[in-house]
Amino acid sequence: MKRKKPGLKAFAVGCAVLISLSAVLLVLAESRQTEYEALLKVTQAPTPTVHAIRLDAAVRAEAAYAAGTPTAAPAGPTPAPQPTSEPAPTQVLLSQGASGEGVRLLQEKLKELDFYSGELDGQFGSGTRSAVKAFQSQHGLSADGIAGEKTWQLLFSGSASPREVKVTPSPVAMLDGEKPMLVNKQHPVDREFVPADLVYLRDVIPSDLAVLADSDAQGVEEAVLALKDMLEAAVRDGIGSWKIREAYRTWAAQERIFNNYVNRFLQDGRTRQSAISATRQTVADPGTSEHHSGLAFDLNAANTSDAFVDTAQYAWLYNHCTEYGFVIRYTDEKEDITGFLGEEWHYRYVGREHAERMQEMDMCLEEYLEWLGAI
Ligand SMILES: [Zn+2]
Repeated sequence: MKRKKPGLKAFAVGCAVLISLSAVLLVLAESRQTEYEALLKVTQAPTPTVHAIRLDAAVRAEAAYAAGTPTAAPAGPTPAPQPTSEPAPTQVLLSQGASGEGVRLLQEKLKELDFYSGELDGQFGSGTRSAVKAFQSQHGLSADGIAGEKTWQLLFSGSASPREVKVTPSPVAMLDGEKPMLVNKQHPVDREFVPADLVYLRDVIPSDLAVLADSDAQGVEEAVLALKDMLEAAVRDGIGSWKIREAYRTWAAQERIFNNYVNRFLQDGRTRQSAISATRQTVADPGTSEHHSGLAFDLNAANTSDAFVDTAQYAWLYNHCTEYGFVIRYTDEKEDITGFLGEEWHYRYVGREHAERMQEMDMCLEEYLEWLGAI
């Protein structure tokens, strides 16, 4: 019995040692597994943690770029960050309402890449925000309109690409329950763009209903039919004498108008750049006029030389145009968003449902499309 005890004890100790050993081995194995998993996670992470992009780094990148020595070679959609050992620089996170040198720098870079067409005034307004969104969207970043680290990084990485102009889909396909088509400086149409279903206004609108400034004027059929309904309703309310000044305009026609203005300024002795800048104050660049859509009409009173804003025709449209699917596209209070001063004569067909909702919410088309999540 006495001999068995130590034997038993030795056996028990042995067992305990073995158990402990296996436990240790298990723990070791587990910890290795954990380490391996952690390693795997790091390796598999889609983008490694990036250093915050700093304004001074952006400024240096810009300076280097201006000097013709880009700092980073193109390296795919998410290039590696440029490590910096500079002491405590300011982190950049710019959004609407911001102002200063950082914003000006952002505008300058966006302009160079054709995303921004406004002034380099260092004010982060809606134009800068749209430009940031367009840049983000084209480069696969989430389009929140805020210039955060990823946006800064890509803008100055050397792999930022200039704005690609996309062909806008047929406007008619976007009317019935869909989102209204947008044409503006940030959303131009392609040179080849022609709206579907163009009809001559003279084939739809009787001459005693409205005078056509251009007898060959065309528009998208659905919009022209709505225009006819609207003018007929006005006449029923005792408001006649309508004139339609402008309707669908081709890219080439807009180019001719634009070049005529540029040439006039050149003849006044301006430089080409200055002539183009002066022209842009009153004439839209080819591709950016809403008249390209075939959904916009400039209306006027045929019987008076009064400013349209003072006429009974305008007063009637102001109160009734949404019932027929039209909106007054440009108003003074939305100038900072649309880029145009008020044009009380310019009516845009968006369809009744959208027109009434835009009016209820007091939104211009850019705001409305953003609210719908379309831009
Ligand atoms: Zn117009």
